[in-house]
Amino acid sequence: MGNQIDRSCQECGTPVDQLPTLVEFEGQEIFLFDPVVCKDCLLSLCDSFSVRCENCGGSIPPYSQVGVLKAENGQKEFVHMNTTCSTVGSAFYGYLGKGKLHHFIEIEAC
Ligand SMILES: [Zn+2]
Ligand SMILES: [Zn+2]
Repeated sequence: MGNQIDRSCQECGTPVDQLPTLVEFEGQEIFLFDPVVCKDCLLSLCDSFSVRCENCGGSIPPYSQVGVLKAENGQKEFVHMNTTCSTVGSAFYGYLGKGKLHHFIEIEAC
């Protein structure tokens, strides 16, 4: 039976034999190790849960790292976590999950 590993998609239960799951969404490559999600589900998650980058207007797919800006009305705004979009003053970052932050790390401004 070789090196069969028992992993299945968290969304639909389909066995996932290769990690990371790799999809291309709106020109961005997404590699996902955790959670285990199959290609089809990852694509539909991207469709449902990607958010708009406040800086460049592009989409930020779920399970990617984001910069977090606090908007005036107490809402959070997201930017790509790269040198172009992550502006100075975004002291917050996290990993985007399904429509909300997956991990949210708050760094004290000093
Ligand atoms: Zn699936
Ligand atoms: Zn951006």
